[in-house]
Amino acid sequence: MSIDVSTKCIHLEEESGDSFYGAVSFPIFQTATFAHPEVGKSTGYDYSRVQNPTREQLEKVVAALENGIDALAFSSGMAAVSTLMELFRPGDHLIVDADLYGGTVRLFDNISEKNGIEITRIDCISQNVEKEIKENTKAIYIETPTNPMMNVLDIRAFSEIAKKRGIWLIVDNTFLSPYFQNPLDLGADIVVHSGTKYLGGHNDTLAGFLVTARTDISEKLRFIIKTTGTGLAPFDSWLILRGIKTLGIRMEKAQENAFEIAHWLEKQNEVKKTVYPGLANHPGHEIIKKQSRGFGAMITFEVESEDFAKKILKNVRLIRFAESLGGVETLITYPITQTHADVPKELLLRNGINERVLRLSVGIESAKDLIAELDRAFKEAR
Ligand SMILES: *Cc1c(COP(=O)(O)O)cnc(C)c1O
Repeated sequence: MSIDVSTKCIHLEEESGDSFYGAVSFPIFQTATFAHPEVGKSTGYDYSRVQNPTREQLEKVVAALENGIDALAFSSGMAAVSTLMELFRPGDHLIVDADLYGGTVRLFDNISEKNGIEITRIDCISQNVEKEIKENTKAIYIETPTNPMMNVLDIRAFSEIAKKRGIWLIVDNTFLSPYFQNPLDLGADIVVHSGTKYLGGHNDTLAGFLVTARTDISEKLRFIIKTTGTGLAPFDSWLILRGIKTLGIRMEKAQENAFEIAHWLEKQNEVKKTVYPGLANHPGHEIIKKQSRGFGAMITFEVESEDFAKKILKNVRLIRFAESLGGVETLITYPITQTHADVPKELLLRNGINERVLRLSVGIESAKDLIAELDRAFKEAR
């Protein structure tokens, strides 16, 4: 019998409960190395760069949440993406969506290209992905919903194209978390997460994940993580394990708040556009309803002027003006100078990221207090 995702956040099906003196919280194995009983014998662990029990427990939980056969935990989301890029060699070609997290764009443009990986960046919604596939194309890389424009991409449609052409589909699932969306079930080959965001959930730890349902990819990644040393430390693994226990209630509450705030934003004269995939007027609303169990808690909105946007950022107090997302605290971000500062200007404009665009990561405070805070920040900005 399969168990629900909110239960999986707290219990692994295989857990026996009698290991480690019955400790309910998985122990932190704060050790770099492991002693051997004799030559050729091992406790199952040799050196923590290769594997550590606390990291392994976290990886099992994330693999279970994403319905993968393996998950690897990294020291940050970007460590996960840069390790992923080690799967490719000079001359390989990737098709990447135009609206991606700014750090991923920076990695592709400055590091992957230097390493001889050819990148074609297209708007995967309006342009024909299949037409861009060449002899040396190895993968399609997307996020959905995208950061920050909240575009929704049809995962199954892209996975069908990838399968037909014998290439991989890689999906960054950070924005919805495995609580609301499981790309592997929709045909993706690799799932990427910034565990810093919803999985950790408390804005206190950096982490990243790669998850796959394929043994060939898992074997390659296991070799790369042990060789490059990008794995997550034991204590940070434990913090993310602890964060995941409340993933379900956090996602539900943050989403509930996001709906209320999105409706409130839609009623403000200064707000020219409210982009939230839970709203029926969002162009990806039907697709997200089909492929996900929820809409998440990220809202992007455009106000009437740059001046008004800056005043809001200056006026907020309870809501913090800070990068990042997915934590219990509601944060407001200015993508053009923060998360997406290194994205080329013409790409920003093409994606609709301008000086008037703000991004909210809605947390789990009381919706009433969040709206009162926004109301005050807007009034003082008028
Ligand atoms: C934050 C983020 C990343 C990078 O993760 P870090 O943990 O900050 O290194 C990658 N993808 C998305 C969608 C993100 O939001």
